[in-house]
Amino acid sequence: MRYLKLAELYDAVSSTTKRLEKIKILSDFLKHLDASDREVLYLLLGNIYPDYDERKIGISSQLAIKAISKATGTEKEKVVKEWKSVGDLGKVAEKLTKSKKQHTLESHVLTTEKVLENLRKLPALEGKGTIDKKISLITELLTSASPIEALYLVRTLIGDLRIGIQVSTIRESMANAFFKDEKEGAKKVQEAIDKSNDVASVFDIVKRGKMNELGKVKIEIGKPIKAMLAQKAKNVKEGFDAVGRPCAIEYKYDGFRLIIHKKGNQIILFTRRLENVTKQFPEVADFIRKYVKADSAILDSEAVGFDKKTKEYKPFQSISQRIRRKYDIEKLREELPVEINVFDILYYNGKSLLNEPFKKRTELIRKIIEPHPYKIIHSKQIITDDEKKAEEFYKKALKDNQEGVMMKNLEAEYNPGSRVGHMLKIKPEERDFDLVITGGEYGTGKRSGWISSFIISCLDKNKNKFLEIGKVGTGFKEKTEEGVSFDELTKKIKPLIIEEKGKNVKIKPKIVISVTYQEIQKSPTYSSGFALRFPRFTALRPDRSPSDVATLKEIEKDFENQKRNWKYG
Ligand code: ATP
Repeated sequence: MRYLKLAELYDAVSSTTKRLEKIKILSDFLKHLDASDREVLYLLLGNIYPDYDERKIGISSQLAIKAISKATGTEKEKVVKEWKSVGDLGKVAEKLTKSKKQHTLESHVLTTEKVLENLRKLPALEGKGTIDKKISLITELLTSASPIEALYLVRTLIGDLRIGIQVSTIRESMANAFFKDEKEGAKKVQEAIDKSNDVASVFDIVKRGKMNELGKVKIEIGKPIKAMLAQKAKNVKEGFDAVGRPCAIEYKYDGFRLIIHKKGNQIILFTRRLENVTKQFPEVADFIRKYVKADSAILDSEAVGFDKKTKEYKPFQSISQRIRRKYDIEKLREELPVEINVFDILYYNGKSLLNEPFKKRTELIRKIIEPHPYKIIHSKQIITDDEKKAEEFYKKALKDNQEGVMMKNLEAEYNPGSRVGHMLKIKPEERDFDLVITGGEYGTGKRSGWISSFIISCLDKNKNKFLEIGKVGTGFKEKTEEGVSFDELTKKIKPLIIEEKGKNVKIKPKIVISVTYQEIQKSPTYSSGFALRFPRFTALRPDRSPSDVATLKEIEKDFENQKRNWKYG
């Protein structure tokens, strides 16, 4: 397929902010999309592989600038200058391609296959000469690109497409294009995407118009699956009302989600963001090999840190560095040990258990996992219909330094990727949100050179947009030894800068942080219409993706609750 066709689609989609119009445009495109061109769906999402694949394009603005300069025969300084004034590197590439002296458009036709081919070579490059090789792969594409193609190529390269297409838009468009019952179609498409995390393979089925085949999408060992998420309940009574009696009540451990795949002796560990973290946790693979009796299995668990001397559980924050660290693995393993608390099983000896009742799944865990405290255990659980017993269990969980409890319907299925009403979390009322950093401001004086104030945003799910909700500058440290420092965060943010004006920067929404606050206020200053009062940074959340951050709806709900609480004291 010609890349131009895709570029024109990007243009059409971004010409409207209305979600329904975007869906209509995309739906028309999908109707005419040949199954053999299905991989352009990755490009539509700004990717080159399915969602679960870790190979990302990962090109910095600086490298893109070099390639633009080379491809258009423009001095690098001029590209930078243009970028500073226009603020969008894609637009800069478009403009410079337009004014390029010898236009080679006639001699080259850029295809989506060629674009994918070159972009896919980028993450594989390693070692000496990598940068030059990357630049030449990109330059090759840019030299045959027309201005509009250059615009979207560059935006794709730096991971900032700005067209407002998310998986949810693709889901709705597929349903609109191929199914009469759109609502049911969208639900089935989403379920298939949550299991496979591969929009192109789901498109294949959808294109044949077979809605019921979507239900047959299989989960596979080695391919990450989205975790099932919980809704909130205020207290144990509300929990029982929602999930029924009796139900299972478990500790809500304060660690991070780990979905464990076992195939014979091969173990693969995935986070909730579908990242493969097997290398970071060698001991976990050992525990699974030793203590899980299964030829093949997929287990859902929470990895919790504990103090190696006192054996006391520690909060998530204290072990978060283990998720990302690629070096000193053995040292970290010694210093920051984790215990695996298994609470679900999705697959066992060649068979998917997604449609089996929770009761059966939880029983199976107890049968096939030999518990070894501080290595691997079954999540602490009671099955009861008694509110008093449930309350006692909840208090005990809090005393044991855990976050609260989970209440689970015994008959429920496992629904990957859904926030379900049959699994509820109960924890003490506290005001805290996960938010994504979308901007920042360089500090002055002692803090010059560092970004020292960060714009934080929530997610408007309807519009698929991040909306600002405040600025946070407290809770960070000046020295790295004391916690998350300005310096450390600035380093993380620099490659994500998409626009720089004076001291202010706009940042690709990638870094998720936990923020506590005292109050939510209405505010015209920020695009969400709300502002957090006294926001304070508490932790980096490398285990969360930007799509996991607090939604505008949740913020509105908390704002309303807060008002109610004031009224009734
Ligand atoms: P929160 O920010 O309140 O921790 P969350 O965003 O982590 O919520 P939720 O789905 O809302 O995710 O809450 C469930 C999370 O709690 C799971 O993702 C999992 O990481 C963790 N968890 C701890 N113990 C359990 C358990 N026994 N059963 C299920 N999930 C558990």
